[in-house]
Amino acid sequence: MQIHTPCGADVMRNSLCIYKHVLPSENDGFLAYGMGKFGRMEISIVMNSSLKFCKPKRERVNESERIIHAQFVRYGRNAREWLKKCALLLPRIEEKQIWRKKGFSSIYEYCAKLAGMSHASVDEALRVLRKIEDKPELLHIVETHGIQRVRPIATIATADTAAFWAEKARDMSKNTLETYVRDYRRVFLPREKIQGYKKTAEPRKTAAAGAPDRLASPQKEHIEMELDSEIAQKLLKLKGAEDWNTLMKKLLTEREEKLEQEKPQPIATKSRHIPAAVKNHAIEKTNGQCAYPGCVKPYEILHHTQRFALEKTHDPDRLMPLCKEHERIAHLGLIDHEEKAPEDWRLRRTHDPMHHKRQIDQMVWLYR
Ligand SMILES: [Zn+2]
Repeated sequence: MQIHTPCGADVMRNSLCIYKHVLPSENDGFLAYGMGKFGRMEISIVMNSSLKFCKPKRERVNESERIIHAQFVRYGRNAREWLKKCALLLPRIEEKQIWRKKGFSSIYEYCAKLAGMSHASVDEALRVLRKIEDKPELLHIVETHGIQRVRPIATIATADTAAFWAEKARDMSKNTLETYVRDYRRVFLPREKIQGYKKTAEPRKTAAAGAPDRLASPQKEHIEMELDSEIAQKLLKLKGAEDWNTLMKKLLTEREEKLEQEKPQPIATKSRHIPAAVKNHAIEKTNGQCAYPGCVKPYEILHHTQRFALEKTHDPDRLMPLCKEHERIAHLGLIDHEEKAPEDWRLRRTHDPMHHKRQIDQMVWLYR
């Protein structure tokens, strides 16, 4: 039996197994994994045609191998739990020089011999824990999720915002949290340097109120390009006496107009399968990159900004290619104005509990 989740994720169920983990496969489809009646099972889901099932495949493990594997999983889980507890003790071990008093040459030798911790993991744990030692909410996250989960927010969280960031660390994976923090810095802490490009002109501020001057020129960004000589000469000719901004705007407008003319009609259907013409158009809009402003990752998921479950429509204007992290952020309700073009999207600090998509997004998360 096939179960369609409210958006994006294709989580499948048959009589033997619920597939909870869905990963992209090499054939432009998905591989789904889950634990079933007979142990771990996998299924291949091929996209670009109607979703179809391959026969569930049982792994060839006998009973004794299954027991060994189960033991290893249990011990590994326990080892990770104990390592989290070890990491939390490191600042006090370092402060009181316990390692020296016990006859070790350094804290690294102490940690390696007693807990199998690497040099790098000791440094990382000490660095992060020093930054959050006055933030009990984040220390609790280290205890429950480990050092790595807190690392992206160690430098941005303050005593006042620790509870806010702890909630984000609970809700997001490490990669999604890193992406959200990067976007958050850009939107809410714009004075910080942005990696990848540099601003050449800040918006002017009014001296009295500190608000942006409405007459100020738009913010400029500096992009460096290395071009073949032939291409560079052609561009210089096209530019003529005008500035680069005018030329690039003209080229972009022409491209958008061409795409608009070729745009397929929205398809109303009960099937989650996205027709090839609609899919190709959506991907072409961003040349296969994530549509979120400032993100340069390749897209991984075509995201229905209106939520497919609500309208049962594949609309090329409301189908956005997103990387996995921005798709997750969208389903956490942290992107405002999704129905508009990406340049009008706005990152939110918290989700809107009354938003009509909220229930759908919560259901999507239940399947992940
Ligand atoms: Zn992205």
